[in-house]
This record gives sequence, structure tokens and C-alpha cells, in this order.
Amino acid sequence: MLNLVLFGPPGAGKGTQSAKLIEQYGLIHLSTGDLLRAEISAGTTLGLEAKKLMDQGILVPDAVVIGMIDNKLNENKAAAGFIFDGFPRTVAQAAALDNLLAQHDVSIQQMIALEVEEEELTQRLLSRGKTSGRPDDQNEDLIRKRVQEYTEKTAPVADFYAQQGKFTGINGVGEIEDIYAQIVSIVEKN
Ligand code: AMP
Repeated sequence: MLNLVLFGPPGAGKGTQSAKLIEQYGLIHLSTGDLLRAEISAGTTLGLEAKKLMDQGILVPDAVVIGMIDNKLNENKAAAGFIFDGFPRTVAQAAALDNLLAQHDVSIQQMIALEVEEEELTQRLLSRGKTSGRPDDQNEDLIRKRVQEYTEKTAPVADFYAQQGKFTGINGVGEIEDIYAQIVSIVEKN
């Protein structure tokens, strides 16, 4: 099984690069942001509660996203592997993911981080907001709040994987294909 965490701040290109990895390696894409937006569209209680926080650019509680990932791992026991996108976003989520994967006798091979400066992120997200329909991409204050949440709560997750010798950071600014080629070379080394 190939299990990867694609890491980086909002707007770093995780979704774009995930799509390419899924196509090449047949992995299942687990994006907690996408799963939460599906809950909102379905009008579930979980979705309505999560929306209140997402509309403020604040992380939803760990237990909510850990539960969603647990369900997806159980639903896809025969998968070739998973690509985790936008999860884990706190050290507690990273520790929970290790435990969940251990229950299936598997583990994360690598966390690959896409590194992009804040100004570039803000411009990318504002531009994405013109077509994505995502309310949290259309307001500059909200984008800055999301980047702040990332810096405070999510950036330490990189150390969690670095301590396990599983962290590789790459420059997330450049041609999509060039960035993807770097990701593939990291994956192929594992
Ligand atoms: P994303 O699509 O990954 O940018 O996520 C959109 C929003 O969903 C975030 O700003 C958070 O409010 C929430 N969210 C997504 N994934 C997580 C997570 N792993 N932990 C907590 N909140 C999350």
C-alpha cells in the first residue's frame, strides 16, 4: 500500500497534485475539506456545524475529521493506497492517523510538503475564488485567517513526520509538471 500525506498551506496546490498522483498510482483521495463540503451540501447536522467554523476560516474539531477518515479507511479496505490532502492538520490528528492506519497494519510512507509564501497563496486563492464557488476563497481576511490557522496549528505536523524520517519539503512555486516530477521522484524512492 502506498499512503502519502500531501501537505501545505491553503492554495499550495495539494488538490492539483493529488489529482495527478491518483491518476498515476490509483490511490484513493481523502480530502477532509471535500468530505466536509459534501456534508454541507447534503445538509447533515455535522455539515451545518462544520460550516459555521469553515465560514470563519477556523479548523473543525479533531474528532470530527478523525471520525470521517476512520469511516473512509474502513470503507476502502482493498485500496491500493490513500492520498491524504488537508489532513492531518493538527499533531493530534497525525497521531490519530498513525493509530488508525496501524489497525489496518499499514502506515504513512511519506509526507510531501508544498512550500509557498503567504502573498502568493493569497493571490492564488483569490483567483481560485472567482471560479471555485468556495466562500472561503473570496474574502482576503478569511484567507489570511486560514493561513494563520495553518501556521499556528498545522505547520507543527511537519515536525511530527520529520521525527519519523518521513518528511520531504519541495518548492510549490513553478510549473505544475515540474513540481509533479519532483513528487514522483520522492514517491519512487519509497
Ligand atoms: P480545505 O478544503 O482543505 O481548504 O478545508 C476547508 C476548511 O475545512 C478548513 O478551513 C477547515 O475549516 C476545514 N477543514 C478541512 N480539513 C480539516 C482538518 N483536517 N481539520 C480541521 N478542519 C479542517
